[in-house]
Formats: sequence, C-alpha cells, structure tokens
Amino acid sequence: MSKKWVYLFREGDATMRDLLGGKGAGVAEMTRTGVPVPPGFTITTEACNTYYDVGQQFPEGLWDQVIAAMKDLEVQTGKTFGDPANPLLVAVRSGAKFSMPGMMDTVLNLGLNQATREGLAQLTDNPRFAADAYRRFVQLFGKIVLGVDGERFEHVLDEAKGHGQRQDTDLSAEELTKIAETFKGIIREEAGVEFPEDPYEQLREAIAAVFRSWNGRRARDYRRINKIADSLGTGVNVQSMVFGNMGNDSATGVAFTRNPSTGDSAIFGEYLVNAQGEDVVAGVRTPQPISRLQETMPEVYAEFATIAKQLEQHYHDVQDVEFTIERGKLWMLQTRAGKRTGAAAVKIAVDLAHEGVIDKATAVQRVDPHALDQLLHPMIDPEARKTATVLTTGLPASPGAASGKAVFDPDEAELLANTGEKVVLIRVETAPEDFHGMVAAQAILTARGGMTSHAAVVARGMGKPCVAGAGELRVSYADQSVSVGSVTIRKGDWVTLDGGTGEIFAGAMPTVEPELSEDFAELMSWADEIRTMGVRANADVPNDAEVARQFGAEGIGLCRTEHMFFEGDRIDAVREMILADTVEERRAALAKIEPLQQSDFEGLFRAMDGLPVTIRTLDPPLHEFLPHDDHEIEALAAKFGADPRRVKIKVESLREANPMLGFRGCRLGIIYPEITEMQARAIFKAAVAVKREGVDVHPEVMIPLVGHLSELKPQEELVRKVAAEVFAEAGIEIPYLVGTMIELPRAALTADEIAGVAEFFSFGTNDLTQTALGLSRDDAGRFLPLYVERKIMADDPFQTIDQRGVGQLVQMGTERGRSTRPNLKVGICGEHGGDPASVVFFHQVGLNYVSCSPYRVPIARLAAAQAAIGDAKRDK
Ligand code: PEP
Ligand code: MG
Repeated sequence: MSKKWVYLFREGDATMRDLLGGKGAGVAEMTRTGVPVPPGFTITTEACNTYYDVGQQFPEGLWDQVIAAMKDLEVQTGKTFGDPANPLLVAVRSGAKFSMPGMMDTVLNLGLNQATREGLAQLTDNPRFAADAYRRFVQLFGKIVLGVDGERFEHVLDEAKGHGQRQDTDLSAEELTKIAETFKGIIREEAGVEFPEDPYEQLREAIAAVFRSWNGRRARDYRRINKIADSLGTGVNVQSMVFGNMGNDSATGVAFTRNPSTGDSAIFGEYLVNAQGEDVVAGVRTPQPISRLQETMPEVYAEFATIAKQLEQHYHDVQDVEFTIERGKLWMLQTRAGKRTGAAAVKIAVDLAHEGVIDKATAVQRVDPHALDQLLHPMIDPEARKTATVLTTGLPASPGAASGKAVFDPDEAELLANTGEKVVLIRVETAPEDFHGMVAAQAILTARGGMTSHAAVVARGMGKPCVAGAGELRVSYADQSVSVGSVTIRKGDWVTLDGGTGEIFAGAMPTVEPELSEDFAELMSWADEIRTMGVRANADVPNDAEVARQFGAEGIGLCRTEHMFFEGDRIDAVREMILADTVEERRAALAKIEPLQQSDFEGLFRAMDGLPVTIRTLDPPLHEFLPHDDHEIEALAAKFGADPRRVKIKVESLREANPMLGFRGCRLGIIYPEITEMQARAIFKAAVAVKREGVDVHPEVMIPLVGHLSELKPQEELVRKVAAEVFAEAGIEIPYLVGTMIELPRAALTADEIAGVAEFFSFGTNDLTQTALGLSRDDAGRFLPLYVERKIMADDPFQTIDQRGVGQLVQMGTERGRSTRPNLKVGICGEHGGDPASVVFFHQVGLNYVSCSPYRVPIARLAAAQAAIGDAKRDK
C-alpha cells in the first residue's frame, strides 16, 4: 500500500499543521468541532516535498487517493464532478505550515467546462452567474496553471468594462462568455495548448501548479524574509465551492475576531456583497465594514459572530477567518491565528490574560519580540503636523510614519533602496508579485483595496507603515506620477505617510518617538517577573542612559568612551594627544580631556543611580580621530601652530593596513598608560563627586580586546592604583569592579587564566564574530547579504549569533572563567544583545545579562522572559 497522501477534512485536526499545513489543519479542526465548512480534503506537505524529490512528478498513489477523495466529496455534496446535470466544483488552494498570505497560488471554480457551465446556468437559473464563474476559472487557470501573463486577461476585461466606465457586475452573460472565449484564444496563443475540458485533467494540473508555486519567486522571497524553511512544503486543499456571488443574498468576507491594527476587542472585518472569494483579498473593489452585515443580514451576522468567538475561545487566540454567504447560508472557509501589529499583539495578549483565556506566561510568549520594534516606531512630529496640509486620506492599514521618494514600480523600489535611498512604493493596488518592492520600501501606499487587501496584510506583517484604498489618488504608471486634485507627485518627489491615521502628505516630515501604552508596561512587568537574565543598555551619553532606563535597562553594559570625543571642540584636544611626541605633551593634552570625560561620567552615574555602569577604556585605532585629506591636515596644523609636514608624517605613520587587528583596544593603554590613567581618574573622580551628591554609584571599568592575561594585568593594576589615589585624596571609598571584554578567541580559550584577574567578563560579540570567523566587520557588507540569500549562512552572523561557532566560544569562555571564579559576572554587549534569537541562546548559556541599544531593551527583556519560559517547559 502506498503512503497516505490525502486526508479528508474530517480525518484531520489542529495538531496536524506540519502535515496538512495551517489552512488544512484549520479547516479540519473546524469540521471536527461542527463549524459549517464546505467539505474537502488536503494533500499533505509530504506529498509536495516528494513531488520535488522525484523530479516534479506526483508521488506514487497520490492520484488514486485524490480520485477516491473526490468520490467522497461527491457523496457528501450530492453533486458529481464533471456532471452537467449537477456539477461539483472545487477550489484548489495552497496552504503551508506558516501562513504566507498571497504568496502561493489558488484556483477557483475548477470543474467547469462548456457542458458544466451550461448545467450550472440551468441549475441556478442564473446564466450570468455561470458565465462569470467560467470566465474567472479560465482566467485563473490560464494565469496560474498555464503560466499566461495575467495582464493580457486584465487588458481584455478592462476594455470590456470601458476602462473603468462599468464594474465587473455590469457585464452580461453574453459578454462574459465572449470574454472567456477570448481568454481561451490567448491561452492557445501564449501557452500553445487548448484549455482542458476534462475536469480531472484540470484538477491534476492545478494540484501540480500549487506544488510549483511553493518554489515561485515571491514564495521564496517571503520565506527568506520571514525565515521560513524551504523544506516545509505546501499542502494543497481541494474544497467544494460555495459561491458568494449568487446575488444580493450572497457575500464573501474576511474578518478578525479582534482588531488586528489596534487590538480592540470588537470583531473587525470586511465583506463584499455578490462577490467571489479572492475579490476581498485582491482589493479589486473597496469592501464594506462587517458592522454593515449586522444591519443587512442580522441572522447570518449573529451566527457568524457566535462562530468567530467560539473559534477564538477554542484556539485561545485571535482568529483571522474567511467566510462566504451563499444565498443566505453561512460557510466558514478558513481560520488561522490573525497576524497583527505589535501594538495589537500587546493589547490582545494582555486582554486575553485579563479575560482568563490565557495565563501571563502565555501572554508573554504571544508577542514576538521583533514586533515591539513597531511600538517603538516613529510618528509624525505633532508640531510639524499642525501646519501641514493633508493631501488625502486612505485607510490606516499599518501603523508608523515614514517618508521617502515616490516610486511606482517594485523593481525600481528595490534598485533605489539598494543604493541607500528611502522610497515609498505607490501602487493602484499591490499584488503578491510586488513583494520585493514592498520589502525595499519605507512605506506602501495604494489607491485601491481595503484593510485586508494584500498591501495591508503584508505591510502589517513586516511592520511597515501602509495606507491603503486612498481612493482620491489618480495613479499613472505611464507618467510615473500620482495626483490628487491639482497636486501631482512625480517619481522622486518626497512623500510622507502616516499608517496609523491613513494620512498622506507631500514632502518629507520630521518624526518623533511614540509613547508606550499601559498594556505594554503591564506585559513588560510580567516579562520581568519571569525572566532570570538581566538586561542592560549600551549608552555613551547621559541622554541615552535616561532613555535606556525608561525602557527598563538595569544598568549600562557598555559605555564606549571614545564616542564622547567628537562632541563640540573636544576633538582638538584628542588630536593633540594623538599627535604628541613626548609623554609630557601627551599628558598635557589628556589633562584637557579629563574634566570633560569626568562630567560625562557624572551624568551617566546620575542617570543610573543605584545601577551598575560599565565604562570601557579607549578602544578604536587612533587614526580614526585624525583628519585624512591634505586640506584638513593643514587646517589642523595651523590650529596647533605645527608644521603641516610633520603632522602629515604623523598621520601617515598611524595608518594601518588592518586597523581592526592593529593598534587598538588595550594595546593603546599598554603602550600609552597615561591614557588609561586619565580615563580611570575621570571615572573615579566622577564617582566621588556624585557620591557626595547622594547618588548610589557602581562603576565597573572594562578593558577591551584582551587576548593575554599579561595584557589585562598591567591595565588592571593601573586602574586600581588610580582608584586608590583618588579615594585617598577624597577620603571616600567606593566599591568598583575591574573586568574585561572577551572579544578574541584566545581570550575565550584562556578565560580561566583571565578570570584570575577579571572580576567580570563582557563578551564583545561584534569583534568575537569578526575574529572567530575571519570576517571583517567593515567589509562583509559586500557579500554577506548574498551569503544569506543563497543560504550559505542562515543569518548574518553580525545580527544573530553564530551559535555553532562563536556560540561555543561564548559558552567555553563562560565555563572556563567560572571554573576559576565561580561568581564571575558574565554579560554580552555586542549587537547580538538585542537580537531575540541570540538573547535566548545567551540565556541558555547562563549569562548574567545582555546589553543592547536603548530601543532594543524591551525586546531583550521580552526575549529573555520567553527563554525562561522555554526552560520551564523543558523541565516539565
Ligand atoms: C564588540 O566588539 O562586540 C563590542 C561591543 O565592541 P565594539 O563594537 O565597540 O568593538
Ligand atoms: Mg569590540
């Protein structure tokens, strides 16, 4: 017997997502729980994978099982596939484990041919309906299964409608029949085949086309962006058709059990009367809000609302449902967890916990840490908004504000974005083919389509601002422009969108950061109760430290002291220090910098009252602070009254072939101890000064880029000597720590030795990645994106920690360090500290804290909590 490739809906359930795909498992579960679902069956994702394994052939036994399942459908519906007297028609839909909205293909009304079309016309007593169903089927089948350019069909349709003079619904049965015949001619011409009359041949080809769409460009792009594995495969759902376009007592719609933009608890959705399935999603006509259904078909609405809430309770989560009303009878076509904005995710999780549907830990797990990024998204500066004129308003499809240059073509959006331009993609409506352009754009604007249109759903998923259905816009692809009234925006002109209000402005506008909601604060407090790993911030100036503290940072994990060197005219003293020939000259220049550093440190200590502040001694190669061209060198020499030739020679002498591996890090402080001495003095004098004000100060001095214990030792001794001097002078003792960064493989390997001196470790995973992978931080941008695209590396290792490689160094360094000093405090302050997947790994390795940029602190807090919940689950 061959493997089971086909499951009737009644044979599956919600746990079978891997095998049946999300859609298949969803309809199976609905069927099982008694929700009205048109009968059907699912071809497994394994069948899709095997189809590819055996050279794009149906796996053995699949077709027989499909035929048997079709017989079952015939029994259940009382209709017969291909029988003109009472034809069974089916939809063939894709459905992978993870929802990929609009990225794969679907064919509707399959089973129609000349004979069944006439049969359908008689049976429904509605020739226009039958002709329209046939027209749609030929069009979809031609485009999706036979690969004919969809534009050619659209062109014919557009002409028949008098270029916007008439609607789809105005076309007569005769006109529609003629259009379908023209379509068949186009198919003959373009695909070189006759449109298949045999329903089973149609079915076989459609199933193969859905398998193929798994590897279509947009599906592959979507998987790459959303990190969905290529190996999952798609399920294929074959479901008996129900029709939302059988008159004014029929409709089709999409709804969420709660508002996916705001999280508001009322049912939210849209529907179109007398329309078929994909019309809503494709945004062809702008639909009606679901509240209207309550007025026009109150009984159907009541049943729908009951089922919607039932599904939400059943799944303990917001559902995104598709439904069709066929002559007053409600059918549910699909249910899945609703995609939502970051703001909605937080509100829904908190509300569901308050309603007792889920517990706090589940609420914490429900919010994707990346989604918090959206909450922290900029909004248009309210001051600038006061004087700005709104060009027009569309639907607020996805929140956040952004400006960019107008572009009208997705390829062009991608090209320009690759050159570093900010672009806003403007389309009449978006199609899945436009996905790469949407990825590249800052924001998306469409003239047509509703809140559940393709543009809206995809933009929300990506957390990009989107305004949809701005009906006053006249978009011309030919002129590459859009106009509203007398205003015209051309390609390259700046526009600003507010995806939270739907407003559109000409020109670029300033933006401000949003305020965080009470729900957000509550969810974060639950995360803090659960997590065991600390979260600090990388902050160099007092202002950043304050922001970090507001976001919940529990200290500063890295202050890069050199970032203060560029403020005001400090750079002059820094340059003087670098160009000095003698120790005395250098000390004199350092003496000018010391009070400035001290006052910065005081600011940091005050902002972090009661919390630890890790300050790193000077790290970057010195030439980074020097001028490079002759003109600048001359200006600098003139400033110091020095000989320009001498300055030039000095600058030349500091140039390095490989500065990242050159004279930097602790090497600077070892060769020029007076630099470390000055910085240590500034740190401890600042500590003493704020202590006298009553600030609870916890300084931690960190030595960078150590590879040998013998490098750390002299620096540590120097820091302690200065501390003792400052404390003796002030008559105050302040507890402090001296530790090191672990950012060279040798440091991780010899961590047991290093921990003999270091009181704490902080993994500098930026440099550790660079040095472990032999991958330059500054030059990898040229090829790393291609590496990721071609899956040579799963992720950019500078964004997400390379667990197999660099991760081992982190783990080993931590273990070896703690073998010498069991209470060694270990953190990480590379960029990975704000990356959710990396944070989970650091938790598992047992680090005490991660440190990341202030805006990523909430993300790290949430990810750390989720990691702790993961532990608890594993322990059970
Ligand atoms: C690191 O290397 O990870 C680090 C935090 O230091 P920097 O990025 O300043 O080199
Ligand atoms: Mg570093």
